[in-house]
Amino acid sequence: MSKKIAILPGDGIGTEIVAEAIKLLDCLNQDFGLDAELETAAIGGAAYDESGRPLPDSTLALCKQADAILMGSVGAPQYESLDRETRPEWGLLQLRASLELFSNLRPAMLYPQLVNASSLKPELVSGLDIMIVRELTGGIYFGEPRGIRTLESGEREGFNTLVYAEHEIDRIARSAFDIAMLRNRKLCSVDKANVLEVSELWREVVKDVAREYPEVELSHLYVDNASMQLVRAPKQFDVIVTGNMFGDILSDTAAMLTGSIGMLPSASLDKNGKGLYEPIHGSAPDIAGKSIANPLATILSVAMMLRYSLEQTELANFVDVAVGNVLNQGFRTADIADGTNSVSTSDMGDAVVAALRALNDS
Ligand code: NAD
Repeated sequence: MSKKIAILPGDGIGTEIVAEAIKLLDCLNQDFGLDAELETAAIGGAAYDESGRPLPDSTLALCKQADAILMGSVGAPQYESLDRETRPEWGLLQLRASLELFSNLRPAMLYPQLVNASSLKPELVSGLDIMIVRELTGGIYFGEPRGIRTLESGEREGFNTLVYAEHEIDRIARSAFDIAMLRNRKLCSVDKANVLEVSELWREVVKDVAREYPEVELSHLYVDNASMQLVRAPKQFDVIVTGNMFGDILSDTAAMLTGSIGMLPSASLDKNGKGLYEPIHGSAPDIAGKSIANPLATILSVAMMLRYSLEQTELANFVDVAVGNVLNQGFRTADIADGTNSVSTSDMGDAVVAALRALNDS
């Protein structure tokens, strides 16, 4: 049965990198029997320019109907002075919240061809393959009350609320255990249970869920230690599960272990496996319009979409192999070029499509 994919290019390099992912999806449709219908809509600054809102109703409606969503990135300097609720990033937060995309999967995988791009020694990172599962729709980024108030003394005070209900912890823990079952069955839960009551509850609920997954080896780390371990000996981790803010920070640290932000995809899933897929990087205004952005994070986001939302594991594996093959052939965009010749965004996209077609022919 045909699947519907909503395509949201967004801002900055978003349009350039998504164009390459569309080439790949067209090839999968034409040559590999993927029966997917693509429909494009505006989000972020592009949507604000058209309609005055970063997440128009028509875009949200399309995303609700779709089986999966592919996004580029949102944000640009000209929108930074807008009110919070008209900023591009707010549109994305609203989309994640409206679709209840609570489980954010952020793989940090180092391609052997790029081992020198990492800031850590090759022996520490070669073969690195971590999955960070970050809770995405709760915690301190959404907790109420929040704001900036003026005290009687006249001094201003900023405040946010860190709150997690049991069901929110339960569902993210299940999501992480399920992923661990598909991988090496090791899960590390990261919290700050020595200081925060929210984390005490987090730990209790994770331990309860663990009883249903006896095959998974569960460990717990405080977030300060986890951040240290990630740069000391990152290969000790398989799957990490954590809350929204800790996950935001740790997943960026893990991303840097792999050298280039332009290589890393992500997925944000609801409880039925419907997902929003996007590269982890932003709209890179400094290189937008120059045709030098690396499209591989977006192409690898398509691979995650095939795996987690479209039940096309074999095609997902083909895309992963095709990306490995173009790196073996020496194709590099500027961000991963290591001083050698680099190719344009569209040349890299074409190379992946050619490598994919070659897999079909072999
Ligand atoms: P960024 O990720 O856009 O860029 C950081 C650096 O990485 C830049 O030097 C950029 O050129 C480089 N880079 C990023 N993606 C690349 C790619 N595919 N190929 C090559 N180089 C790449 O982060 P930023 O500069 O902090 O933010 C820029 C804008 O993006 C801001 O408006 C921010 O709010 C937004 N943003 C959006 C998302 C999202 O859409 N999910 C995520 C992060 C930031």
